Amino acid sequence: MNELIRCINCDEIFLRTPFDLWPEYESCPNGPLESFRTIERDDFQDFLKSHHGHRLEDLKILEDSFVSEKNYFEPVKISYFKATNGKESFVVKKFREKIDEPLKYQLIHGDYSLRCTDIEIQSKEIVKQLKTEFKTSPLPPYQMEAFLKLFQYIVKTIDIQKLERIPEESPNSLEIYYKIDDISLVYLLRNCRNIFKGQEYLNIEEFIHRHKDDGVLLLKATYKIQITKMTKSKKVEKTRPREAISTRIPLKIKKAAEKG
Ligand SMILES: [Zn+2]
Repeated sequence: MNELIRCINCDEIFLRTPFDLWPEYESCPNGPLESFRTIERDDFQDFLKSHHGHRLEDLKILEDSFVSEKNYFEPVKISYFKATNGKESFVVKKFREKIDEPLKYQLIHGDYSLRCTDIEIQSKEIVKQLKTEFKTSPLPPYQMEAFLKLFQYIVKTIDIQKLERIPEESPNSLEIYYKIDDISLVYLLRNCRNIFKGQEYLNIEEFIHRHKDDGVLLLKATYKIQITKMTKSKKVEKTRPREAISTRIPLKIKKAAEKG
């Protein structure tokens, strides 16, 4: 249903049904969906017209390759996803400069990778949670600070490759949450014995177990998108003739029109 079409001659692309693609808000915020669909269909006709006689090919979008520099629900942002024609790999840059502008798509020959730039503990959230849960016998500031320092210190030594990712925690594809590994957990608990004594220790041990899997003790890693551009291959492979596409499209438009 989703079709990403590339003009080989001009190296331009058109994405036919962008609002079906990603779990994010894409359609026109003020108008009904139908008016958006109509505009999109017209745009596609324009694309076909301006690339009349050129060689077109379908690109396959790689599932789960969507990354964005901002939260999914932000309307003005730059996102990327991967696509291929079976031989070459591409990165599609999807962006909008202003909220009332349509989305633009730019084809990049190459690939992208994600590089982890930082891994940190959720200090603010931990302090908030400790204050809430230890209301009857609040932790003195020096203990709170010592705990955060210890946790941060342990986290800095962790190899992120070995951690279990918690995908549903983040609305941002460049901020990923991980569960602390068992060895680091043991190390954390053992060192907590130097900060907390007796019942205090038992309380903090319980706190750690309560929040390590899905709570404030998850570790937050920040990633950066790195795009590797490749030189465009000069040899253009023979693709399906353009006629094959143009006979297919009116049918789909007709169908969509009937549905609406
Ligand atoms: Zn063209």
